[in-house]
Amino acid sequence: MGGTMAGVGTDQRGLQRRALLTTTALAAVGGLVGCGSGARTRDLAPADGGSGTGLPTAIPAPRNPAPTAPSSTPTPADWKALAESLSGKLLRPGDAGYPAAHQLFDPAWDSVLPAAVSECADPADVATTLKFAERFKLPLTSKSGGHSYVGASTTNGGIVISVSSMKSITFSGTTAQVGAGAPLVQVYSALEARNRIIPAGSCQSVGVAGLTLGGGLSLANRVFGLTCDTVTQVQVVTADGAVHTANTSAEPNLYWACRGGGGGTLGVVTAFWFRTEASPLIGTFSVGWTWANAAAVVRGWQRYMETASEEVWASLRLTSNPNGTLSVRVFGVDVSNDPSAALDKLISAVGVEPEHQTATKNKHFSPDPPSGRVGFYAGTDILGQALPASGVTALLDAMTGAARAGVGATAAFDPLGGQVERLAVNATAFPWRKAFASIQWYSQSSNAKGARAWIASGHKAVASWAVGGYVNYLEANRTNGSLYFGPNLAKLASIKKTYDPNNVFKLPYTL
Ligand SMILES: Cc1cc2nc3c(=O)[nH]c(=O)nc-3n(C[C@H](O)[C@H](O)[C@H](O)COP(=O)(O)OP(=O)(O)OC[C@H]3O[C@@H](n4cnc5c(N)ncnc54)[C@H](O)[C@@H]3O)c2cc1C
Repeated sequence: MGGTMAGVGTDQRGLQRRALLTTTALAAVGGLVGCGSGARTRDLAPADGGSGTGLPTAIPAPRNPAPTAPSSTPTPADWKALAESLSGKLLRPGDAGYPAAHQLFDPAWDSVLPAAVSECADPADVATTLKFAERFKLPLTSKSGGHSYVGASTTNGGIVISVSSMKSITFSGTTAQVGAGAPLVQVYSALEARNRIIPAGSCQSVGVAGLTLGGGLSLANRVFGLTCDTVTQVQVVTADGAVHTANTSAEPNLYWACRGGGGGTLGVVTAFWFRTEASPLIGTFSVGWTWANAAAVVRGWQRYMETASEEVWASLRLTSNPNGTLSVRVFGVDVSNDPSAALDKLISAVGVEPEHQTATKNKHFSPDPPSGRVGFYAGTDILGQALPASGVTALLDAMTGAARAGVGATAAFDPLGGQVERLAVNATAFPWRKAFASIQWYSQSSNAKGARAWIASGHKAVASWAVGGYVNYLEANRTNGSLYFGPNLAKLASIKKTYDPNNVFKLPYTL
């Protein structure tokens, strides 16, 4: 589909900023704003805290590098022994591949320098690296696509266990076996070749592991469920080096936790098995109103989403531009491929003629065009219900506050419901089954103070109707586990104790 739904703006420092995303690729316009370009550093504190590319057909035993010195700090010989014991690569500062291996999507974390990145080729490499980290009491973390909002997939002076080499995708009937390091672009294209789909996220470079472990919001959620809802099995290496295969009948608690419990806390997932769906032909639509009608649009979008069929997914975007202007728009997909009908119903729910609208038929779900690394500030709320009039007023006040301050920012409201709510709240670790929508507060402004103040004002505006936050949009200053896991926190914490009793996988933000 040709049309662009994107508005590309320029922030106060003249950096290009993509406020919304294109429709050429549909997943792109979905769960997230931010797959943009224009790298910028910012002033957040770093958070410490088969074959080379294939999945193994048989699981080899961990290889233990022979200790060369009984020291608490690894010597060069220890590192060398570790490197030699891996099927994959060990990258240390000074190695050619180290910069690319240790960097995350957000350049804000470039200053965090791990002692090594272990690019594991298979579960045995993961187990070997875990043993080494334990022997020298090194901090460790796991990394797939590197899109953590809080820099959780890197660690100063420690070891990053990278699964990025484990990215092969194979099929058995309609089940796809996906290496945990596959970026979404690879997942989409392998599935597309078979005319299949899973409901996955928007950004090509997001890793399948982080996305799926946290739940997975997308344009296809209402019709196919969350990404994690289509997982039928996971392979996980725990801190003791054991390799687990978890599904409904084998280790069901681990399976449960890996569907929405968030990455980085239980072990290192090395592979997922997904149930795939036939890729439908879909319609898309985009519509915008003048800001003077913003309250009517928010109310109308809410009314529409409360009764819309699960074939329709529509996202409300409120944007303040750095030049002080504001815009409100909705874009969406209709899996019955009748976008004009969906659009008409939305416009009628709003009750005001839009400034512009487009509708296109016969598209497929697919990710955004590729984008560069970018710095951003973000926050999350999950709305338990539609906002009443007082909430809408508070929300619009927060947006006009951002515009007055010259802060470029987008509040992205993505609907839940449909297949997401068909499952019980405790069916998987993702707890927001019965909620109305997710909100992402997102800014690429170079005005850090202004962006943070706006995010805080957004939280405040919707606080009375918010039930929690989405774990894949973690906020470093909101560390309470119940915020992200609600009623599922206790079960998740107990599974964490079983599988990681010594808290080797520390993530200060959630568990
Ligand atoms: C540009 C952009 C677009 C996005 N679009 C969407 C979207 O459309 N929908 C949506 O739901 N979310 C979206 N997100 C959020 C995204 O889902 C999370 O940031 C997710 O955690 C990223 O996963 P990753 O593997 O890329 O990140 P990483 O930083 O590699 O990992 C994230 C977390 O998972 C852990 N982890 C990584 N690999 C493993 C593993 N193999 N086993 C266990 N733990 C692991 C890490 O330690 C870290 O704690 C987006 C984020 C960005 C920056």
